Amino acid sequence: MVKAEAVHKSFGAAHILKGVDLEVAPREVFCLIGPSGSGKSTFLRCINHLEQINAGRLWVDGELVGYRQRGDRLHELKDREVAAKRRDIGMVFQRFNLFPHMTALENVMEGPVQVKRESKAVARERARTLLDRVGLGEKAGNYPSQLSGGQQQRVAIARALAMEPKLMLFDEPTSALDPELVGDVLDVMRGLAEDGMTMIVVTHEMGFAREVGDALVFMDDGVVVESGHPRDVLGNPQHERTKSFLSKVL
Ligand code: ADP
Ligand code: MG
Repeated sequence: MVKAEAVHKSFGAAHILKGVDLEVAPREVFCLIGPSGSGKSTFLRCINHLEQINAGRLWVDGELVGYRQRGDRLHELKDREVAAKRRDIGMVFQRFNLFPHMTALENVMEGPVQVKRESKAVARERARTLLDRVGLGEKAGNYPSQLSGGQQQRVAIARALAMEPKLMLFDEPTSALDPELVGDVLDVMRGLAEDGMTMIVVTHEMGFAREVGDALVFMDDGVVVESGHPRDVLGNPQHERTKSFLSKVL
């Protein structure tokens, strides 16, 4: 679903991704951990076409989306192609970014109606199903300000799912939540994983990574330091940098 080969990304003189190699299989729950500033969000943004890589190769959903390899044809997506590709990728951020003037139901309907030109009736039906699925069927008529942070985040997940994505990217989805609200959001993500959704999850929730993750990568300073099954990496880290990071978060 995603394959990165020596992916580099700089912002001006700041070299952020310094040759990232990794591979995410379909239906996999792929956890990405690492210290703040190591490039995790930047990498997700490259997958989602919010940033362009400077060197290396990146495949998303079987297609090469950016590379600068000698001898290769330079592949630049046009704006319309980028928009089409982003539609297949759902993204959930630390901050929920719901539209404040719309109800939960309207938030979930918005993408399919505006972007996919779906009829309101069809979009409403799916939105109701999705809100039920994230445990918020009763709150469909609430505005974001009338929902807890955890509920808002579950609406944000439903909103991403409404576009029927092939891949879901989660960027620290529980980091902004009060501790008692984290579990409900993780439960929704666990359900998604059980349904076979391909997910890349940037998280500090090591319990989730251990129980739900199929693969785990520890990233530091723009490179993949260590990767493997979550139980192995978390239980028996091989590299000093991994050990040091885990000793701080576990
Ligand atoms: P992480 O998600 O692992 O905390 P980020 O990918 O957000 O790390 O950031 C990595 C580094 O890239 C940080 O030093 C950040 O300041 C820098 N960075 C991220 N986005 C930009 C940008 N658009 N312009 C300049 N620097 C950026
Ligand atoms: Mg980040």
